[in-house]
Amino acid sequence: MSTDVTTPGELTSFGVATLFIDGKWEAADTGATFDVTDPATGTIIGQASDAGGAETDRAIAAASDAWPAWARETAYRRAEVLRAAHDLMVERAEDLAHLMTSEQGKPLRAARNEVRYAADFLAWFAEEAKRVYGQTIPSNRSSHRFTVLKQPVGVVAGITPWNYPMSMITRKVAPAVAAGCTIVLKPAEQTPLCAAAVFKVFEDAGFPPGVANLVTTQRPEQVGDRLLDDARVRKLTFTGSTEVGTVLAGRAAATMKRVSLELGGHAPMIVFDDADPEHAAKGVSLVKFLNAGQACISPNRIYVQRGIVERFLEVLTDRTAALEAGPGHQANVGIGPLIDQASLEKVQRQIDDAVGRGARLLVGGRRLTDNGLDRGYFFAPTVLADVDESMVIYREETFGPLAAVIAFDTEDEVIAKANDTQYGLASYVYTRDLGRAVRVSEALRFGIVGVNDINPTGAQAPFGGRGSSGLGREGGAEGIDEYLDVKLVGLAL
Ligand code: ADP
Repeated sequence: MSTDVTTPGELTSFGVATLFIDGKWEAADTGATFDVTDPATGTIIGQASDAGGAETDRAIAAASDAWPAWARETAYRRAEVLRAAHDLMVERAEDLAHLMTSEQGKPLRAARNEVRYAADFLAWFAEEAKRVYGQTIPSNRSSHRFTVLKQPVGVVAGITPWNYPMSMITRKVAPAVAAGCTIVLKPAEQTPLCAAAVFKVFEDAGFPPGVANLVTTQRPEQVGDRLLDDARVRKLTFTGSTEVGTVLAGRAAATMKRVSLELGGHAPMIVFDDADPEHAAKGVSLVKFLNAGQACISPNRIYVQRGIVERFLEVLTDRTAALEAGPGHQANVGIGPLIDQASLEKVQRQIDDAVGRGARLLVGGRRLTDNGLDRGYFFAPTVLADVDESMVIYREETFGPLAAVIAFDTEDEVIAKANDTQYGLASYVYTRDLGRAVRVSEALRFGIVGVNDINPTGAQAPFGGRGSSGLGREGGAEGIDEYLDVKLVGLAL
């Protein structure tokens, strides 16, 4: 690890006061804390406050009290604090990236990219705050007018995952705050220090007390239940598993909260034989092993047209074998650890099942334990060929460094197969045929299609899915609408 960079302990010099409520850092009422572990080494890197219902109630009260004044602020004022937060985040990028690598495991280069991405949401929504346009509608009566206003929904509850521990926070807090909402955020129990460091940015950028509140806990249900049952909370924004998201959305219905959900995925990647198999294999290796495969847009089914499948597999296998696994602070590391033991077991189970049903294991296939890697949760990047519908991996999200390749013959066949999933988040296609690119991107039933593009995301673009992948969009011009209610004003002259 480089020595001239602030350590996580120094950066998150909150002691164990990682709750940020009404503009103040607080410990849990009971003083309870929980350990935060580096998934690459098993080392405890810090502690976070373990909040429960009482602290959550206070955070909701703070957000609720702060809301009317924040809603009345001009969009320009709201933009100012978001812009300041962006600038501070960029200034602290190196420290934030190191903290992220220690707490979440991704290689430093990927952590730097995520900090940049996280900051992008702050800058984007600082601008979007100024573009919350209403509408006037011609009335059918001459002595009458219709005006449409967009107004902030109120107090927002945000729940975020560990895999992108900073950008998932700014992707929710920035549009909420830009719209004139206030927010209570509960981060994942695996990454509370990243969350605290992001909230330190908000504090230092001048967010008024109560506008953005942070409640860390290792008991998500306790905090979640309060957030969901409280009628003052008018909106739930959640990123996480389909399983949990479904339960939370059901619960949110009792108080009729607005809901946006960014859930699991099972992305198809389609490589047609008119594409360059080498270029496609390089692309696949880049996107598949990003964050060790722990991304909801990670390709889970890689369909390759039969004529080029062997060449594609050769290149993919070579590149996969060359990936260096290790703690993300080490130079040249291309793949970090998984987040925990259960993740290792899931990947192994999918591989064993697939191989047992006839898949070919071309590289990887096991946990890595040499050279001290046994202290962390490292899994060898893996390529499986001859995957078919009988295998668990064909339907179940992997969330690990496992590329499953399936041969196909025709365009119609592969579109039908790609769409044959309950999920509908990301999809990808490689082709050099323009007509085919248009046909296939229109036929895929997903919220996102990358055409010869392995990174079809950005703060300025709407991100989200269909079906079991969720509801609503984050980022883009659409992102702020999730935090706005439409009000019709009829005026009789
Ligand atoms: P993952 O499998 O990626 O960890 P989860 O859906 O379990 O996904 O977690 C995503 C977020 O949801 C985390 O912040 C987690 O603490 C939170 N969470 C999990 N269960 C609940 C719950 N019952 N109530 C509220 N939040 C929850």
